[in-house]
Amino acid sequence: MKYVGAHVSAAGGVDQAVIRAHEIKATAFALFTKNQRQWKAAPLSTDVIDKFKKNCELYQYSPAQILPHDSYLINLGHPEEEALEKSRDAFLDEMIRCEQLGIELLNFHPGSHLKKIDVDQCLQRIAESINITLDKTKNVTAVIENTAGQGSNLGYRFEHLAAIIDGVEDKSRVGVCIDTCHTFAAGYDLRTVEDCNKTFSEFEKIVGFQYLKAMHLNDAKSELGSRVDRHHSLGEGNIGRIPFTYIMQDARFDGIPLILETVNPDIWPEEIAWLKSQEKN
Ligand SMILES: [Zn+2]
Ligand SMILES: [Zn+2]
Repeated sequence: MKYVGAHVSAAGGVDQAVIRAHEIKATAFALFTKNQRQWKAAPLSTDVIDKFKKNCELYQYSPAQILPHDSYLINLGHPEEEALEKSRDAFLDEMIRCEQLGIELLNFHPGSHLKKIDVDQCLQRIAESINITLDKTKNVTAVIENTAGQGSNLGYRFEHLAAIIDGVEDKSRVGVCIDTCHTFAAGYDLRTVEDCNKTFSEFEKIVGFQYLKAMHLNDAKSELGSRVDRHHSLGEGNIGRIPFTYIMQDARFDGIPLILETVNPDIWPEEIAWLKSQEKN
């Protein structure tokens, strides 16, 4: 069973995101549980929490179909102590919000060394940030997203993801989200079935499919290996449609949220319908 959807707006409250997902016939969705460009947010009210849960029940979204994304400001590998603390506090708040909403996954970008510490030190810091947060929470899995490797962002090599997981004490509550655009921009080709076989067997060898908790399905405006993060609509970028058909027909991607973050929300209903049609081909 494949769960397909998009990162929908939570304008007007997180409960509204559920309705928007239903409207585009999504069987999964992503959302921000607070404004992604601000550090602070008012706590979720019990009214909003109740409405969110009610809508999820009404439109049949289980926790396995919901993938919140944390704020873009958070850097769990920050080289400076004070800023690191601020990020860790904000990440904990994000995870608590997920717990309150009955959500079991939290997707985040691993972090950046800002050229002030080395790669290994930064990866260790990220793992430690995850440990601290998991210690203070119960039911949410930390889902590390692979990145395009823009600037000093880590997570663009599968080895980075493996190193972070290695440093996490509770392996049952850590996982990864693989973004196809980021993967391609990081230099892992996906354009043909052979490329997909090679890239995903490398993923299996280095990270392991047991840690795959979600996918972001995006075509890329950026070039292979460019380390530039620019999404495109499916089939309109440099990746093409082949990997999306591949993913829809491969059981290794069953039962996890497959989320579009493509650039034109107007065609999400068509993209979702097309993805669903590939499952049966
Ligand atoms: Zn993504
Ligand atoms: Zn991206």
